[in-house]
Amino acid sequence: MSIPLVDIAIIGAGPGGLALAQGLKKNGIDTAVFERDPVRADYVQGFRMRIRQRGISALEANLPPHLFQAFLDTLGLAPTENLILDERFERLANTVRRISEPEDTHIEKSVSRITLRQILLSGMEGILHTGKHFQRYEILADGTAIAHFADGSAVRTNLLVGADGADSAVRRQLLPELKSFDTGVRRLAGKITLVDAARHAISPLLTDFNTNIRPRSGRSLMITSHRVDPAAYARHGLIGAEDLTHRDIPGFHFNNTTSYTWWNTAYDTDELGPDGLLETLDGAGLLRTLLARIGDWDERILKLIRHTDPSTVALLKVHTSIPGAVWQSGPVTLLGDAIHAMTYFRALGGNTALYDTGLLVPEIVAARRYGKPLIAAVNDYENAMREHGYEAVCSSLLAMQRNVGAGRPLKALATL
Ligand SMILES: Cc1cc2nc3c(=O)[nH]c(=O)nc-3n(C[C@H](O)[C@H](O)[C@H](O)COP(=O)(O)OP(=O)(O)OC[C@H]3O[C@@H](n4cnc5c(N)ncnc54)[C@H](O)[C@@H]3O)c2cc1C
Repeated sequence: MSIPLVDIAIIGAGPGGLALAQGLKKNGIDTAVFERDPVRADYVQGFRMRIRQRGISALEANLPPHLFQAFLDTLGLAPTENLILDERFERLANTVRRISEPEDTHIEKSVSRITLRQILLSGMEGILHTGKHFQRYEILADGTAIAHFADGSAVRTNLLVGADGADSAVRRQLLPELKSFDTGVRRLAGKITLVDAARHAISPLLTDFNTNIRPRSGRSLMITSHRVDPAAYARHGLIGAEDLTHRDIPGFHFNNTTSYTWWNTAYDTDELGPDGLLETLDGAGLLRTLLARIGDWDERILKLIRHTDPSTVALLKVHTSIPGAVWQSGPVTLLGDAIHAMTYFRALGGNTALYDTGLLVPEIVAARRYGKPLIAAVNDYENAMREHGYEAVCSSLLAMQRNVGAGRPLKALATL
């Protein structure tokens, strides 16, 4: 049986892989995306993502104008003011301030991951192939690569792009020494609809601001909201609507059309309990564990936690990549979390994956339209990608140390 050839083969249909495919399609370059899972229902998919200017610019470059417009029109609204309270619900001095960080964060927006995926999947018919679990690649003497899938099929390509996330099988083959590192930090998060928050008389200080509860001792709790307006989105058809592939999943977690407040908190190794115990707990059990830990906090904060929908609560082990790997460019490259997975503390991972696509698409266009040798194009992409990607990994680690460590080195990070 002959193996089909595609110019650029992408492994993984996350935001990175799909935005890359959109950009290549927009430029008339032959591409295909190979994705393992037909449905995206991992835990974080139920949350919004902070999207920064670097991510937005990459989307603008890669999407056709009508889809970029749909993206702008269906953005959720996040609060525009920050507030810091202590655990007694007392406002810390001068803490209501409009967001104006340096870098590009002042233009940040809140995008539902479900909606972003709907946008990125638009027009991908014939390009996206699901049920394709990538297993390994081989490089042929003519410089092309063959990707092999678990179902026995294969594809030959001039460039194989591993956009297959933090546990990338492409990276494991290309850079076997690069391991994912468990930071020991354990995160809990949960959501409550704004309707339920009002019903339970949750304080507006917890629903209308980006509120950081900063206790005198213990770990902080971040609270923010994501407001949507499905009626305003209606002109975009399925974009911004419920995702039909989530239809059979019970609970509120993957609801895409209801505004909500959500919180997250993070603890160092064993502080909430041993992993062996935490991993056996469902959402309600995790909520009880957290409430036991912060039981002396003000009732207005505890009420928010108590009324959180347990179906939206899960434990997440925070991993990072170790930045710094350099390799010789060839017909296999990496993009997004596959090469620079980072902690969530600066909300940079998805934005950095999108930014990568904004670097790689013009390089491939230069190769295909203007005669730049493909490997030179890949090399220029990789140099730029490594510089900003590794910088983002480091800054997210520092932010985690500041946030969770509060002055003390985190246990696992001390071994880095
Ligand atoms: C709690 C949390 C909060 C976050 N918040 C933010 C935020 O606010 N802003 C932000 O920018 N980032 C955020 N991030 C990071 C962001 O989610 C990731 O950086 C982003 O999803 C990376 O995109 P990606 O396309 O590189 O990889 P992924 O999204 O991981 O996609 C990889 C895809 O590859 C597929 N795949 C995996 N293995 C195979 C295989 N062998 N064969 C075929 N397909 C495969 C997977 O099914 C998946 O679809 C957060 C992360 C976490 C954990």
